[in-house]
Amino acid sequence: MRFTWSLLALLGMPSLMMAQSYFIKGPEVPKPSEKTAIQEMTDYLARRIGDKTLSIGGKTPVTFQIGDTELARQQKCLSTELEDERWVIRSVGDQILINGGGTRGVLYAAYHFLEDFCDIHWWSDYEEYVPQASSLTLDTLNETGKPVFLYRDIYRTHKSPDSAKTAIRNRLNRDGGEGLALLPAELGGSFAYGSPSHTHTFDRYIPFEKYGTDHPEYFSLVNGIRIGGQLKGQLCLTNPALKQMFLSQILRNIKQDKEIAAKKGCPPPRIYDVSMNDNRNICTCDQCKAEQEQFNPSGHYLKFVNWIAGEVAKTYPDLYISTLAYFYTEPPPKGGVRAADNVIVKLCDTRTNQAASILEKDNKIFFDFLTSWKNYAKNLFIWDYAITFTQGVTGFPFASEFHYGDLYRTYHENNVTGVFWEHERPHVADFYELKFFLETKLFEDPYQDVEKLINLFMDRYYGPAAKYMLEYRRTLDAARKKNSGFISWFPPIDAFQYIRKEDIIKCQSLFDEAEKTVADDTVRFARVRHGRVGLDRLTCHIANPLIYHSLQKKETDGQLKRLAVEACKRVAETRASWVEKWSNNKGILQQFENELAVMSMEIEEKPIPPELQGRSFYDFYPNCFQNHQANLIKLVDDAESPVGKAFRTDVDPEKMKYYDLPFGMGVYDQRNTKTIISTKFDKPYGKGYNWYKLPGIIHLPKDGYVYLTRAWTTKVGLSNPEIAERDFEIWASVKFTGPKFFADSTDKNYIYIDRVVLVEPQK
Ligand SMILES: [Zn+2]
Repeated sequence: MRFTWSLLALLGMPSLMMAQSYFIKGPEVPKPSEKTAIQEMTDYLARRIGDKTLSIGGKTPVTFQIGDTELARQQKCLSTELEDERWVIRSVGDQILINGGGTRGVLYAAYHFLEDFCDIHWWSDYEEYVPQASSLTLDTLNETGKPVFLYRDIYRTHKSPDSAKTAIRNRLNRDGGEGLALLPAELGGSFAYGSPSHTHTFDRYIPFEKYGTDHPEYFSLVNGIRIGGQLKGQLCLTNPALKQMFLSQILRNIKQDKEIAAKKGCPPPRIYDVSMNDNRNICTCDQCKAEQEQFNPSGHYLKFVNWIAGEVAKTYPDLYISTLAYFYTEPPPKGGVRAADNVIVKLCDTRTNQAASILEKDNKIFFDFLTSWKNYAKNLFIWDYAITFTQGVTGFPFASEFHYGDLYRTYHENNVTGVFWEHERPHVADFYELKFFLETKLFEDPYQDVEKLINLFMDRYYGPAAKYMLEYRRTLDAARKKNSGFISWFPPIDAFQYIRKEDIIKCQSLFDEAEKTVADDTVRFARVRHGRVGLDRLTCHIANPLIYHSLQKKETDGQLKRLAVEACKRVAETRASWVEKWSNNKGILQQFENELAVMSMEIEEKPIPPELQGRSFYDFYPNCFQNHQANLIKLVDDAESPVGKAFRTDVDPEKMKYYDLPFGMGVYDQRNTKTIISTKFDKPYGKGYNWYKLPGIIHLPKDGYVYLTRAWTTKVGLSNPEIAERDFEIWASVKFTGPKFFADSTDKNYIYIDRVVLVEPQK
């Protein structure tokens, strides 16, 4: 018989006698978070134990005492007696005490019991792991813990309406969000920022729009004029009236927020942010400049922030004031300034190689900022990134998970007490569920064995496919080390060439094996397929610029192309099904369509042009062209082109000057920032597509591109290791239409480019 929770027990009345091996009890009048803890224990234990037997120290039935019960009082474990966020799981005879400090401790105790002793895990808003019902024999228990990091926040997107539960189940104490984003009392509230926001607050406290006219002196003096606003200016931090006004605003917010939180039954906010607007226009008035010279820009800022923090502490000694180390305040202060003890400095990590450990030399700049800031601030937070943002690149794989241990330990050892992770786009981001799992676990204890955590995740999430999935990730990490891969927060598309052809071939075969092991398990098969999408997209991309028409074909080329064809087919088949169950998948399906269009183009081989018969050459189709002026260019069908598609530039009359003849073509060396060769064509060779060639044989740079029309317009990347630093002739197939190019033309003014080829010189 299945055990079902009865309302009687919730109200502390004796449960009805059933043939069951456990009972769940709470206080007579449970608080909202206690109710949630009771409900969660009830639901999950019903699935985990069901009508099987639970025993503790040889005793059954077992009674759970959840929250501020009589047992908690006897054991001196009331929520008011324990530190905030400390959780306690303790067996006393046949009873198990589940409780914790503050409003969230009881929830953490319940979730730790379910996770640590029942092997239940919450991977995301939509996926969890609950073992099949079976008997559970436990030894006596006396467990306690408290998260090591004070502030634990992961900014996610495409969340379900119930997402805050995922956050709390994994012991995060904030779930992203703007403004006064308090989590509800049922989830124990959150470690919240007060209003107006968690960052860039100068203009939100003192809006330039509101005060700029009457009080220009409140704002930064830049190039002789006073200017403010989120994107244009800052405040004049040495102005005494401005300081007083800022203080009274912040005190007013604190008071209002406390009232709102009390109405909602939540703990009030713990932090108020006092930080710069999102621009570099620091005040250059005489007083501000003098302070910046004496104390550095960060010291000048800290003097203002410390003053606010000191005034706030007179009334609210428990509150923190946070500020940013960002742009010009990244270098720490000098001249004896340091952050006050109730100030938190938030250092933004925009410089690291995400695929490498913070202890590797690639990450020395950020490591040095971190280790020097610890001498100037008792409390440091980090604003960190677990995702790449470059368009078309998000989701390409990099195995950062193996380096999370180093990262969290280094943070902890350098006064870091909180991290705000930006980790968006779970539908495309690389191995999102594993990384999210580690991000949450290490917040609680950075000294855990990361390998063990990864193995646990792999085993529960992928079942029999786990060993192949783990080997895939290790292969990525080894390739990154071997080929010096550098994955920044905005990586260029070719940064992922660190995964070479032989790695792609190996990884794809690992996935083939992985899929075989879970062929009969729909859920796990879908997970393996989803984990494969990043590699599949990368396979198409890497196969793409290597479309190689060779007189002596190499075996691997054909192999890579075959893999790319299969990859494209797989993504088309399975990708959308992953997000169908999501409540918030707006725009995702359209995005998939666009990516698939590019992928399918990447793998089609086009006929060899007559001029190139008998030559070996690399063939680039329009899908791999780039142009920063997205509004002027378009990938279009063109029946006149042997490729079938062309990259079309709209040469409208206003822009005509920019795209006017002569038509330019050249090669640019990105690493050494110089043009290697350039040439100009005064007029088209004729109507229709014609070949335009750079003169002579060109030795390609290690990291560069071919450009067409103008130096910064249509580009074709040349960073692939297979072609870099080799000699080629470079040809482009181009068509001009419209009266600007041909006086008798009635077409619109367009430049079409359908093909760029790198031709191996004739021996
Ligand atoms: Zn100033």
